[in-house]
Amino acid sequence: MMKTTLAASLALMIAAPAFANELVVYSSRADNLLKPVVAEYEKKTGTKVQLVGGQAGPLMEKIRAEGSNTPADVFITVDGGNLWQATQMGLLRPINSPTLKANIPASLRDPKNQWYGLSVRARTIFYNTNKVKPAELSSYAALADAKWKGRLCLRTSNNVYNQSLVGTMIANLGAVKTEQIVKGWVANLAAPPFANDTAMLEAIGAGRCDVGIANTYYYGRLMDKQPKLPLGIFWANQQTSGTHVNIAGAGVTTHAKNEKGAVRFLEWLSSDKAQNLFADINMEYPVNPKVKPAAEVAAWGDFKHNYINVSKAGEMQAEAVKLMDRAGYR
Ligand code: FE
Repeated sequence: MMKTTLAASLALMIAAPAFANELVVYSSRADNLLKPVVAEYEKKTGTKVQLVGGQAGPLMEKIRAEGSNTPADVFITVDGGNLWQATQMGLLRPINSPTLKANIPASLRDPKNQWYGLSVRARTIFYNTNKVKPAELSSYAALADAKWKGRLCLRTSNNVYNQSLVGTMIANLGAVKTEQIVKGWVANLAAPPFANDTAMLEAIGAGRCDVGIANTYYYGRLMDKQPKLPLGIFWANQQTSGTHVNIAGAGVTTHAKNEKGAVRFLEWLSSDKAQNLFADINMEYPVNPKVKPAAEVAAWGDFKHNYINVSKAGEMQAEAVKLMDRAGYR
């Protein structure tokens, strides 16, 4: 009897993976944004989370190169374009979790369940409040009008955020119309495209350009530091398709050793307990519609967002890159 019990518990010990309480997370979301969330999860669950940071492209290459030996259970990154890329590389496995589906709107997760959005950022129009009245603004497309000649600033086209924006425009408006718009943008540029959203927003604040397109959280960070900047936010495409939104999101890797733990982590991240922790630290919007954004984010006002699935941004990525190249957008 004693022997059987011992044998049974030994068998159990062997069957139960030693790493069940450990989770390895590869993430291209900035460390300082993720660490407090992870610390809270470790405290709540006793799970030991190992964070491996890096840029999205190299991290995806790393997971692919490691193959079935990868220690990564979870991959976190920003932009549907990057997550779509990860699915194309076969790095993520489908997860059927009723909790994730209940917490995350359908347009902000993969139709094939290989990744889930965890926070939302909008890519919209910003303007110099001394030079532009909001009534002069309407859509991304209207920034191609000749009235903005020498007044528009943009970030470079090699950035995934712009590839996703233009990809979504192709899906909404068609390639011919989108190419005309992008050509119009290029013709209106006040300065060569900027290396990042913050530099571009600073240029608008300094009056070097009058309007531009950026992600909302860069605006939030900048205004936190320089509240007197004459910089306004305008919700694009409210009369038409809605403002372009994108996500930070995550998936469980194809060769995850701890699938259960990985799913539990994602479910927690999407829950009302963790959503503010995940989103507010970067001045993003919670993906879970039951959770309210931080007061400083809510102060930017309500807006209608585009309901096209974020994965479309990935599907259209290659076409968007070619189109921007043809249009002379560097
Ligand atoms: Fe960013």
